[in-house]
Amino acid sequence: MNHPTPCRPFHFASVLLSVGLTANAFGSTTLPAIEDEDRIRAAMNEAPAEERIFNDHITVLSSPWMGGRLPGTPGMEYARDYVIYWYKQAGLEPGMIDPDTGERSWKQPFRLGASTEFRDQELVVDGANGEVTFELGTDFELTSLGSDGRVEGDMVFVGYSIDEGNDGYESFEEDTDLTGKIAVMLRFEPMDEEGDSLWNDRRWSRKSTFASKFNAVKKRNPAGVILINPPGANDPRSGALMKGTANVIEGVPVFMLTPDAGEALTAACDPEGRSLLELRKLADAGTTIVDFDGAVTGGGVIEEIPSYAENVLGVLPGRGDLKDEFVIIGGHLDHLGMGEFGSRRGSGNLHPGADDNASGAAALMMLGESLRKAYDEIPEDQPLRSIMFAAFDAEESGLNGSRFYADNPPHGIDDVALMINFDMIGRVNEKGLSVTGVDTGDGMREWAQPFLDDSGLEIVLAEGMRGGGSDHASFYRKGIPILFAICADFHDDYHTPDDTPDKIYRTSGVKTVNLFHELALDAAKRPEKFKFASADSGGGSARAPGPARPRALRVRLGIRSRQLPDGAGLEVVNVTDGSTAEKGGLQEGDVIKKWDKNPIKTRAELVSRLAELKPDDEVQVIVERDGEQKVVFLKMLAPE
Ligand SMILES: [Zn+2]
Repeated sequence: MNHPTPCRPFHFASVLLSVGLTANAFGSTTLPAIEDEDRIRAAMNEAPAEERIFNDHITVLSSPWMGGRLPGTPGMEYARDYVIYWYKQAGLEPGMIDPDTGERSWKQPFRLGASTEFRDQELVVDGANGEVTFELGTDFELTSLGSDGRVEGDMVFVGYSIDEGNDGYESFEEDTDLTGKIAVMLRFEPMDEEGDSLWNDRRWSRKSTFASKFNAVKKRNPAGVILINPPGANDPRSGALMKGTANVIEGVPVFMLTPDAGEALTAACDPEGRSLLELRKLADAGTTIVDFDGAVTGGGVIEEIPSYAENVLGVLPGRGDLKDEFVIIGGHLDHLGMGEFGSRRGSGNLHPGADDNASGAAALMMLGESLRKAYDEIPEDQPLRSIMFAAFDAEESGLNGSRFYADNPPHGIDDVALMINFDMIGRVNEKGLSVTGVDTGDGMREWAQPFLDDSGLEIVLAEGMRGGGSDHASFYRKGIPILFAICADFHDDYHTPDDTPDKIYRTSGVKTVNLFHELALDAAKRPEKFKFASADSGGGSARAPGPARPRALRVRLGIRSRQLPDGAGLEVVNVTDGSTAEKGGLQEGDVIKKWDKNPIKTRAELVSRLAELKPDDEVQVIVERDGEQKVVFLKMLAPE
């Protein structure tokens, strides 16, 4: 095939972009000159058909109509319909089979967490100095830090609710018993005149976390908790109310109040007529337990509504002896929507996800057609494996779709010969295409090499399983050989509104598709499956399970951490100044839940993840901070 010159993709991209702009400008009075239209038409006609198709798929999937393809939204539904349309055009069959009825379908639904619905919230304080009815959303929220239900009782002010603080600080008296009472608690920890922590140079110490504070109050057995954002705190969060996402205390309703609402509560109930700021200053200095002169009535309903996501599966049936074995070709279809979660910048704006991962989804649809055609031309008596095309949902929030598939495949998991994953193949420039996994099957490297050599691309073979933050990791974990393709030159538009379709390199994208056409077709024909080999040691061959050999890390994270019981994650105990962790915004008290989209539970796991990294590599970390999930991006630094 005659490929255009290397400068071509950019030219082609900009021409197609201007087509889009022209269409948008039809309402205005200025239309481009006719010769411009001819220039655009000529460029489109000259482009090879495959580049036009690759372009179309990416442009459609990353259009505003798809809304950034967030799981659970209409845009994601449109994206799935689009993929199904092209699976049908390619002549694929629905990939799901109902085990009971034998009925076939295109979609594999799975549970994806839940959304929380709040109802009937109310909070009224009846104090010696007056009654206050708090306004939902303006003054207070019932949070999912605790449970729902109703509370009624007297109030006790407990300062910051801290046990064993610095320098012998204690919030509670030895005999403080809150049974049947409502604890009124300040957020954060003792602070100075500027509203900064008295105990920590940077931000707050881990004594300020919800986990720590609620653990302390729980021991005193309260019936409810009112958590007040303290006046004068130097923290942007203190001005806002939250509903929270993580439960930190069982069976106890927890209300959150603004500083102003907290002042109103104090004015109604403090026996000595002090302001909340005055009480805060007392709590800054030490133990301040005050029996408020007033009672609370409040409550509400918190309901978990289960939410679902769906993988889109199409299958090209195999033949003969190999029919029941599978090659899986996957890529995630979802992205970040408006960037509410997981965005690196520009949250609230459309995150088109052209490269991440409309490009991989485009590859799936194109391979569906090209491989079906190839199968049609192969003599009937040639045994062939079945090929499953899997557009995964909910990858961005932690490989959810692929993990569900690997746990619930519509075929035997041991029948999978190879899993191929595409994630961001739209920005393959002169630095090349990164391929991970050539050592995950015995003999795979030797097998793949000639195809890689003939691809017309600069191929960068990734070490070990570096780049485990995408859907292939779900299959690798099941002992399946994998190949993973991603652009080698990681770009700054990743997870931002700037991942737009005009920036796609169409020629190299199509070369990538063609390369994996050859690899998948050959993998589907080979008489024997590759025997799985762990690539975790970073070397070439399988390694017996056992403790990893210690080796020098090339990067330094700069935290001390504590492994939480029951696999709840790694708590950050300390952050070193100027370290990778500090620069990326990790904070003391954060609980690290996911590393590169994979759950992380032990320090040993963290060390082996760090061993894969080199300076300047970027890692996405999901932490739980004060009842909410946050995404932190770490750009790794070398040890000093
Ligand atoms: Zn991706």
